[in-house]
Amino acid sequence: MTNNEIETRLFINGQFQPAADGKVFKLINPFSQETVAEIHEAGENEVNKAVTAAKAAYPAWRDLTPAARGAYLHKMAALIRENMHEFARLEALSTGKPIASYFDGQVAADTFSYYAEAGWTVQGSSSLNTPGHLNLTVKQPYGVVACIIPWNVPLAFFAMKIAPALAAGNAVVLKSSEKAPLTSLLGAKLIEKAGFPPGVVNIISGFGSPAGNALSLHMDVRCLSFTGSSFTGQKIQAAAATSNMKHVHMELGGKSPAIIFDDADLESAAQQTQFSIQILSGQTCMANSRIYVQEPVAEKFLAIFKEKFGTNARLGDPLDENTSHGPQVDGTQYKRVKSYLEIGEKDGKLTLGGDGGDGYFVKPTVFENVPEDSRIMKEEVFGPVVVINTFKTEEEVIEKANCTEFGLYASVFTKNIDRAVRTSKLLEAGTVGVNCTSPTISPDMPFGGYKMSGVGREGYMHSLDNYLETKTILIRTSS
Ligand code: NAD
Repeated sequence: MTNNEIETRLFINGQFQPAADGKVFKLINPFSQETVAEIHEAGENEVNKAVTAAKAAYPAWRDLTPAARGAYLHKMAALIRENMHEFARLEALSTGKPIASYFDGQVAADTFSYYAEAGWTVQGSSSLNTPGHLNLTVKQPYGVVACIIPWNVPLAFFAMKIAPALAAGNAVVLKSSEKAPLTSLLGAKLIEKAGFPPGVVNIISGFGSPAGNALSLHMDVRCLSFTGSSFTGQKIQAAAATSNMKHVHMELGGKSPAIIFDDADLESAAQQTQFSIQILSGQTCMANSRIYVQEPVAEKFLAIFKEKFGTNARLGDPLDENTSHGPQVDGTQYKRVKSYLEIGEKDGKLTLGGDGGDGYFVKPTVFENVPEDSRIMKEEVFGPVVVINTFKTEEEVIEKANCTEFGLYASVFTKNIDRAVRTSKLLEAGTVGVNCTSPTISPDMPFGGYKMSGVGREGYMHSLDNYLETKTILIRTSS
């Protein structure tokens, strides 16, 4: 294989290799619908090999100093920065993400840089509260950590899972999404180039079943970090519970509400909320897919919103610098979004956009006057589709906003600080934006979901702890 070729093999124990049974799957470009590559698919056999390699590599990795482990992470950060354009190209080819709005590489490099230094912060506590004792807690890695990631921001999740797990002293097996294996495989090439000891990081491509399921059930995996849909999260949690009760943390789906009160800066609210649901063609977990606007300003807000939403999106080839809106990731996702368009048209009123009518494109789409019990109000569409409903009172809108099983992100637009604080407290969401909405996040703040949007939190100062056990040591003393 030359450097310019796309890597398609599995990376296990420091070696690129095909699956033992030679199985491959086709990766299709969602824009051209041509085959990009045939990817080697991990089955149960490869999962076992990867976990065995990680288990063997773990003790030596754990026993390195934080600085020694950090040196590898620094190298990864630098290599990712050098390869930013190639990462963007590969993601455009496999997931249809426009190169012009590619940010995953920056997030990934920054994340490796942060955790390259953060190993030193792993510390326990001590206590003299029991007479005749010096008691301690220490933080220790789990051993083998499995990471399962989605396709929408894959390189960012690759880094956000692997970097803290490694900084904490664990060895890792990461399974990428079958829809986006290429950037994780380029990541594996950089792991090799950075010189990580064999087995410390293993990267496999494959489907939820068998590979993801085998990881979730594996008896030597002690911790599993997952980002993906709530539906898959439930399956993984069940597999974890019925195997070895491995620790799981989960970043799951969303149905995020944005609330626009009548005193809001409507121009800013419209600009931000349309961007939230348009970026990545609506394929983000925290997209504000439900907007509630207070009646007196509804007409004005809708006019500004629709003007921006309809014209800011430039549909086209994801490899073209002028494109801001790519196709949905594949035929399955496109059909799924279309099925919600039908529900929206049946239950409410389509007032902008609809099916792109060309390949897997869906135009920026607005539905209005949709009843709260419609499926399009309750389920995650994962497309550039927003419902805009009106409300009269604060009490009414809080009840509506909270009336889903999701709770990832919510936002409130108002100039009244008392109302902002009151509503922030009542909204059932892991993050609340005041006069801002997703994708606004802050890497040093905890991110995660209430209800079925997640279990646990991720973030610079929060993720390390996800990959550490706490041990109490009781030392009896003579005085
Ligand atoms: P998905 O749940 O279909 O797949 C995610 C990963 O799980 C893939 O790697 C897939 O192969 C694997 N998987 C599927 N079935 C499995 C099983 N039975 N056992 C183990 N692994 C299995 O999700 P997706 O379509 O890749 O991603 C979109 C979803 O991810 C949306 O719901 C979105 O909201 C969510 N998401 C959440 C966050 C967050 O931070 N909360 C971020 C990004 C995406």
